[in-house]
Amino acid sequence: MTETDRIRRFLFERAPVRGHLVHLDSAWTAIWEHHHYPEAVRETLGEAIAATALIASTRKFDGTLTLQLQGPGPLHLLVAQCTHGFGMRGVARWNGNVEPGSLQRMTGGGRLTVTVEAADASARYQGVVPLSGERISDCLEAYFRDSEQLPTRIALAATADSAAGMLLQRLPQSPRKAGTPQGDPDEAWNRIEHLASTLQREELLGLGHSALLRRLFHAEDVRVFEPAPVFFRCRCSRERVAGMLESLGKEEVRSILAERGEVEVRCEFCNRAYRFDAIDSEQLFRAPAEQTRSDTLQ
Ligand SMILES: [Zn+2]
Repeated sequence: MTETDRIRRFLFERAPVRGHLVHLDSAWTAIWEHHHYPEAVRETLGEAIAATALIASTRKFDGTLTLQLQGPGPLHLLVAQCTHGFGMRGVARWNGNVEPGSLQRMTGGGRLTVTVEAADASARYQGVVPLSGERISDCLEAYFRDSEQLPTRIALAATADSAAGMLLQRLPQSPRKAGTPQGDPDEAWNRIEHLASTLQREELLGLGHSALLRRLFHAEDVRVFEPAPVFFRCRCSRERVAGMLESLGKEEVRSILAERGEVEVRCEFCNRAYRFDAIDSEQLFRAPAEQTRSDTLQ
């Protein structure tokens, strides 16, 4: 039995290593179903979504974590977002034909950015690595090595139905209380890393978390935690769209109205349509003026 839209933590009792597993199903199809992505783009987005959930799971934050790939190649922009409660959304932009191949080739190089923003905008953290290597996992392993100095192994896989991933991270010291018998931490990390490298794509996509951990680490002492749900959630709103139209300007909005009778803005992430007719649109631009007038009267 596979996991359905779940993320889960696990710990090695006798080694300073922690792990995270994620499996997205309906949450993943909800993210891509309104887009006509070429297969290579959809697969890369699926891997990025699984990766973003895993990175979010390694951190304590209250807000949004965004993974963004940007490059000059055919796959020129990809955004994957996850809230601290594992509400996820994502979108990719591409030009022409995107042939399956290395990430480096699809994106034409560029960079991968990981940004954590607090919900109340009080804090912002950003890490950047070059978009090199075969896959997103290579890029993210470099990100953890360079930005956080934590040896990390990441496996990702995505199809039209599922996106899944596993992250293993060596911790500076044991997560267990002192006194638990442990072997040499270098030797333990090498052993666990080697076992993890035998993981097959089909196993990552097809096995339940417990079966997967048993298959990989049956001789290790692994503590598995309760899973948390992962779901699709878009942050778009009529207020945000109204703000966007305001910044577009009165003339621009009026010219769209003259041409089409209404202004329709579709959210890139969830495809939801926000419609503003002539009256709605006039209100966008009238409100601040009335505000100013009443201010003057007071
Ligand atoms: Zn939306």
